[in-house]
Amino acid sequence: MFENKDESRTSLGELGEFGLINHLTQTFKIKQSSTVTAIGDDAAVIDPDGKQLVVTTDLLVEGVHFDLSFMPLKHLGYKAVMVNLSDVYAMNAEATQITVSIAVSNRFPLEALEELYAGIELACSIYNVDLIGGDTTSSTTGLLISVTALGQAEPATLVKRDGAKDGDLLVVSGDLGASYMGLQVLEREKQVYKVNPNAQPDLEPYAYLVERQLKPEARKDVVELLKKIEVQPTAMIDISDGLSSEIIHLCKSSKTGVRLYEEKIPLDPQLIQVCEEFELDSTTVALSGGEDYELLFTIKQEDYEKIKGNPHLTVIGHITPENDGLNLITRANTSIPIVARGWNALKDEE
Ligand SMILES: [Mg+2]
Repeated sequence: MFENKDESRTSLGELGEFGLINHLTQTFKIKQSSTVTAIGDDAAVIDPDGKQLVVTTDLLVEGVHFDLSFMPLKHLGYKAVMVNLSDVYAMNAEATQITVSIAVSNRFPLEALEELYAGIELACSIYNVDLIGGDTTSSTTGLLISVTALGQAEPATLVKRDGAKDGDLLVVSGDLGASYMGLQVLEREKQVYKVNPNAQPDLEPYAYLVERQLKPEARKDVVELLKKIEVQPTAMIDISDGLSSEIIHLCKSSKTGVRLYEEKIPLDPQLIQVCEEFELDSTTVALSGGEDYELLFTIKQEDYEKIKGNPHLTVIGHITPENDGLNLITRANTSIPIVARGWNALKDEE
C-alpha cells in the first residue's frame, strides 16, 4: 500500500562499503562542540568537558520491530534515532552524538538507503546531534539497524530510575496509547490491501495515531522545559514498553510503591474513538501499548506549583511506601495491582 514504486535502482555493490558510507553521510554537518573527530578516522573522538557521558543502544530488526510494507524508510531512519534519543533524555541528559550501523540485503538498492539516511539526517538536524560513525554490512535476509546514542549531563542534574521517594508525584509527558493504536490501524489496512490491492487506505481519521507510530518524537522539549522551570526529577524513565511496565521498573529501582489514578491517564480524543472502534479498553492500551516515547518521572511535592497547568505534563499518581505495592485506582475507585504485560501480551489477548 505504501510501496516505493520508484524505478531507479542503483546496486549497492557498485559503490563498495567506504564509497557507500561516504555517499550516505556526505551531507551530514557537525553541530556539537564536543564532537572532535567524526566519520573518516579509525574512531570518533569526543570531548565531554567535565560532564558525565550517557550511552545507549537499540537494535531494530525487520519483521520484528518494523514492517516495511507500511513503514517508509525515511520514517524508519527517523524513528531509529528517536528510540535512542528518548533513552538519553530519560537520563535528563542532552543527546549529542549517534552512531548508526546497518546490515542490509541486496534487495535494497542505494536509493532505499538514501531514504533511510534522509530520515536519520532529519532527526540529527532537528535534535542537534552529530552522526559520528557506524558500520555497514550485508545481511542475507532483511534490514537491521542499530543506533547508539551518546549524551552528556552535569553530574548534579543527571536523573536515574532509583531516586523516587514516598510522597513524590508521578508525572507523564504528552498522551499515551496512540502509537499502539496507530500500529493496529496500519496492520488492519495492510490486511485490507492484501485482499484488495486496489483499495485506497483512508488514514485521515487516524492521522495522529499513525504519525505517533511512524514518526514519534523524543521529548527533548520536556528535558529543556524542566530545566527552564527549575524542576529536578527525582527519578525518570522513558515509555517504550507501556506505562505499567515502566512504572514497575521505576518503583522497583526506587524500592517504592505507587498509586496510579486511571482517570488521570492522558488520552488523545482520537485514541478514545479508535479504541471504541476496535473494541479495546483505552486504559489497557495506555498501560500496555508501548512505543509512546514519552517521559515518566517523579517530582517532589513542593515542585507541583511549577508544573501545574502545563499542557505537556500530567500528574497521574504518587509514590507510596514499598510495602503498599503498585496499585491502579480505577474510575470506580477500586484498587487493582499494576502488572506488566507489554504490547505482545496485549496482542495474545485479542
Ligand atoms: Mg528506556
